[in-house]
Amino acid sequence: MINKIQLLPENVANQIAAGEVVLRPSSIVKELIENSVDSGATNISLVVKNAGKTLVRVIDNGSGIAHDELELAFERHATSKIKIVQDLFQIKSNGFRGEALSSIAAISHVTAVTRKKNNKLAKSIKISGNKIQKTEFKVSSFGTVISVRNLFYNVPARRNFLKSDSVELKHIIDEFSRLSLANQNVNFSFYRDNSEIFDLKPTNLRKRILTICGNRLENELVPIQEETPLVKIEGFIVKPSGARKSRGHQFFFVNNRFIKSPFLNHAVKSSFQGLLSDKLHPGYFIRLDIDPSKIDVNIHPTKNEIKFEDEQSIYAILKSTIKHSLGIFQVTPSLDFEMNTEMDIPYSFRNKNPLKPLISVDSSFNPFIEQSKDQVNSNSELNQVELDSENNQQKLSLLETNFNPNQIKVFQLFNKYLVTALPSGLLIINQNRAHQRVLYERFLGLLSNNKSSSQKLLFPHKIKLSKLDLISFRENKAIYEVLGFEFNEIDSEIISILSVPNLFLKDNLDEKLKDLFLNNNEIGFDSFSNGDLVSKRLSKSMAIQNGKILNLEEQQELLASLFACKENQVSPFNLPILINFDRFDLDKQIS
Ligand code: ADP
Ligand code: MG
Repeated sequence: MINKIQLLPENVANQIAAGEVVLRPSSIVKELIENSVDSGATNISLVVKNAGKTLVRVIDNGSGIAHDELELAFERHATSKIKIVQDLFQIKSNGFRGEALSSIAAISHVTAVTRKKNNKLAKSIKISGNKIQKTEFKVSSFGTVISVRNLFYNVPARRNFLKSDSVELKHIIDEFSRLSLANQNVNFSFYRDNSEIFDLKPTNLRKRILTICGNRLENELVPIQEETPLVKIEGFIVKPSGARKSRGHQFFFVNNRFIKSPFLNHAVKSSFQGLLSDKLHPGYFIRLDIDPSKIDVNIHPTKNEIKFEDEQSIYAILKSTIKHSLGIFQVTPSLDFEMNTEMDIPYSFRNKNPLKPLISVDSSFNPFIEQSKDQVNSNSELNQVELDSENNQQKLSLLETNFNPNQIKVFQLFNKYLVTALPSGLLIINQNRAHQRVLYERFLGLLSNNKSSSQKLLFPHKIKLSKLDLISFRENKAIYEVLGFEFNEIDSEIISILSVPNLFLKDNLDEKLKDLFLNNNEIGFDSFSNGDLVSKRLSKSMAIQNGKILNLEEQQELLASLFACKENQVSPFNLPILINFDRFDLDKQIS
């Protein structure tokens, strides 16, 4: 073993830094666009191929990089934005750590072409693995073009870790949305696999919000404004009537930088107290301008989090500003008690692995096929299910020997739980989550054997989509079609639905279809494929809601289907479906 202390070679150090700065294609988008903004560009174009895995290119008309500094820009800790320690406390630019370009060049193939206004020609360099491969001069307009190809080509583990194209694209769109909301004076365009998906002309914040988030917010935005010696606040909050079950419409910008702040989010949430049900998230687009010496942006490698010197005062000012606006604009309470909010995915569950199922059931087992006694016995292995509870290693049989749905003993509690007795004990099941699980597995099954049937709607059903919804719709259209949907895309933003899958119950059709196709960008964020994502979305919008009264037959059928699922402990969104009081526990407590 070598235990001499040595400095890491430059390329190794850069690869390590890249691990912090470049997590996925969207990180490249963020770093390159931030550099373009810092360079004073008024026109920035983003081009991505294969969700950025093959190419991310950013073209700007900014200051350009001096030719004799171009190579230097790709060295670690090379920055033009700060010079002395004091500058660190006065940061007005997006970048300052001088890490992005060197990190990116360590894990991809980069080409940079740049020309300052006073240069006749542009200088172009090609770099891979931090080594300059080629330098040349050529004709080009002024500004900078940086193209990043084959991300993680030399770090296969990271490359394999990337998610499906639709998930990576979603991250890119999120990043693009944040940057374009933070810089509404800049003309941003976005091309994806050769087609333009955004062209945002310079405008005011309100209009930019509507283009990015959809015209549905048109009548929902309430302006806020406050100026104190400590902080200047402006922007918009969304009326309670426009609040959503997901956190998609929550943006803080501090000195033009998008940041995440649970603390400030709490301030907003508490200003809405009494106006919003607990399960809904307020929408907001809030810019705070603060003396840069009163904040620290250098606490996180991607600079998405910052520290405020006087957090408490900012909290108080923000809260009273919002309350004031809610008052002036007479935003009246509009609580929607009907709304089902059960299925919100708590953030804490986002990155968790699914729980390991405790009960393993044979998925080919069909409870609707009558079985003869012999078959039952020869299949006894199927029916003999293990229950691996922590304090009970005994083998228990979950299902009665002859498992016939109409013999399941069950009753509904509070119109949302199904309670059933098994030889092993007592199960309490959340009906909405159980049905989600059943539907999710059915859709996955249909996708894998390409078999589904659909029902024509009496009248085509029209829905207006926002740009973001439209992107996600187009991305997954073919999958919806495999599952039994039929569409007629009328014009660019309205889709017309002609048929739905047979499994689709047509009560509350409008609500279900809207739930399915609108605003669901956050759902299935963890999906490993588009098919998985669509199956999750469908299961969420189609599942029996909590609160719905089920007759005995429906209850039995739901339970039988749940027990036939491959996984029956957690919903497609990783929430527990049931709790089990096994006999051992009961005996311990009350016998
Ligand atoms: P940082 O942004 O933290 O300074 P980067 O590695 O992102 O570090 O960039 C290094 C330097 O390269 C920047 O400080 C800037 O001078 C220059 N640079 C990068 N991109 C551009 C661009 N699009 N236009 C002009 N200069 C740029
Ligand atoms: Mg930078």
